[in-house]
Amino acid sequence: MKTVLITGAAGFLGSHLCDRFLKEGLKVIAMDNLITGDMDNIQHLIGNEHFSFIHHDVTNYVHVSGKLDYIMHFASPASPIDYLKIPIQTLKVGSLAIHNLLGLAREKKARIIIASTSEIYGDPQVHPQHEEYWGHVNPVGPRGVYDEAKRFQEAMTMAYNRYHGVETRIVRIFNTYGPRMRLNDGRVLPAFIGQALRGEDLTIFGDGTQTRSFCYVDDLVEGIYRLLMSDYDEPVNIGNPDEIMIKEFAEEIIKLTGTTQKVVYKDLPQDDPKQRRPDISLAQKVLGWEPKVNRSEGLKITYSYFKSLSEEKLYRVEHKDFAKYIK
Ligand code: UDP
Repeated sequence: MKTVLITGAAGFLGSHLCDRFLKEGLKVIAMDNLITGDMDNIQHLIGNEHFSFIHHDVTNYVHVSGKLDYIMHFASPASPIDYLKIPIQTLKVGSLAIHNLLGLAREKKARIIIASTSEIYGDPQVHPQHEEYWGHVNPVGPRGVYDEAKRFQEAMTMAYNRYHGVETRIVRIFNTYGPRMRLNDGRVLPAFIGQALRGEDLTIFGDGTQTRSFCYVDDLVEGIYRLLMSDYDEPVNIGNPDEIMIKEFAEEIIKLTGTTQKVVYKDLPQDDPKQRRPDISLAQKVLGWEPKVNRSEGLKITYSYFKSLSEEKLYRVEHKDFAKYIK
């Protein structure tokens, strides 16, 4: 039986990866420091004999006894509000943690996949974004702590690949959504749905003409699984190229939720990318992968998940602080 270590396992993506790898017949060791992760996301796995959870901050030395076949580094804050609230942890988990995990991979002769991001392209001047594009990133802006940590993470990973011969994979993840997203992390999809559920107006930042392309989580997990099992060690974009303006997206959420609230406009946060759409031709070519779930289907599933959450989660005070981070 093969064993996989998943960091950030109590997070949105990490928890879906735990489910997938257990289903594939692997033993899963889940690790999380629970800063942004939530045990509710993996509660259903506690008691599974092939699943174990270690409460640990991977920016500190990581010890795992026994053999390891795969390591998946998915621990990181991943929303602009998180970067503003916990900038140092965001930098550390992209830099110190990846050094620890690459060392562990080398020691255990394990294959390691790291979660990179479309943010390494910054506010892109090339559209759509393909893997050869080097990006347009402001290192000292508010998103710099995430963008630069992820860029360093890619560089470190390639160095271990080239210098130590560690088997590495790099997935560049574009905007992804689905059940188990944090309702109060400030990202646009949970923000709009949360606002609709609480009877608040939907907040559009800027004039809403900026674009994003949203990928349903099951599609993303399939792409990551294929990449890990492939022999391709350069970065690969995984995302859904179906691009939409944020103001049109707000209309879709209004229709989906039936809210009678209106949209209100707020200032655009600094360095907010104006357009983002993955070029997925490489993933199609090397992994035979493309997304299957369209937005209306994925949004319905995600909306029923958010509706099922407790009042405590819906009204958790965290989201109320956001005003002080957003001008
Ligand atoms: N956004 C918005 N209203 C919100 C939250 C976000 O208009 O309440 C915008 C944000 O400015 C950005 C887009 O939605 O242009 C996506 O933001 P998100 O934080 O989800 O992720 P990003 O892709 O920027 O990392």
